[in-house]
Amino acid sequence: MENKQNIPVDVEIVPYISPYKANIAAATRVTILKVGSFFAGAPSTKESTLSQSELLEYLTPPKKGDKQMDTPKLYVLPKLAYGYDALAPTISETLLRLHHEKHHAAYVNGANTIIEKMVKARTENADFDTKATFKELSFHIGGHVLHSLFWGNLSPQGKGGGEMPSGAIAKIISEEFGSIDRFKKLFSQAALSAEGSGWAALTFCRGTNRPIIMQVEKHNNNIYPMFRILMVLDVWEHAYYLDYRNDRGKFVEAFWNIVNWAEVNKRLEDAMKS
Ligand code: MN
Repeated sequence: MENKQNIPVDVEIVPYISPYKANIAAATRVTILKVGSFFAGAPSTKESTLSQSELLEYLTPPKKGDKQMDTPKLYVLPKLAYGYDALAPTISETLLRLHHEKHHAAYVNGANTIIEKMVKARTENADFDTKATFKELSFHIGGHVLHSLFWGNLSPQGKGGGEMPSGAIAKIISEEFGSIDRFKKLFSQAALSAEGSGWAALTFCRGTNRPIIMQVEKHNNNIYPMFRILMVLDVWEHAYYLDYRNDRGKFVEAFWNIVNWAEVNKRLEDAMKS
């Protein structure tokens, strides 16, 4: 892929199991997809990449007739495409490790626990509290998907992180927001003013071909359905407190030093094609 960066992979590229392909009962035996360019960094071999279309497949329920439609599915925590110390000083090793291994993992485990409970309820033909369960499930799955996108739109400085955007993403941002700097200002304001815990996200509306800034509360509120997410910034306190204390503004400012614009551009080009 043209936007792929040659980032040395200093961590093991790990299996990234599609929730729609993994079978709970046989999780260790299923065919595995390997994390790839989507999660920033660049795996060195073609077969170890997960393309945008494969990612969409990962996030899209199987079609009718799919043999695996009725098999139970589980989420898996993806490993990062860079080392835990690679984003310092913007994000320290301790913070990144905690954020990924504890917080992100908690959403993966939370979603799986609920899915297993629902599978059990189905097996036993039992009722469950649907309102609370579906709300909690969307919270955990939203957290998992947003964190996965977040890791992918970050890259170490000197390896693409923080470089000026180019190509389609630069063009469309400049057209819509006036300039890259003005976009950064607006996106930062969205991140700073997200109430409580939440995210700032750059999305793309296929209906109008406009990039739209979206503020996400928690992991699952204020989502525009069908708007493809191009870039996200986590502004939950756990994302910055260890390094920046209560200074969210300083963290948001530093975020621009590690944005992987090549990946954001790739996501845009994929969205425009589909
Ligand atoms: Mn987070």
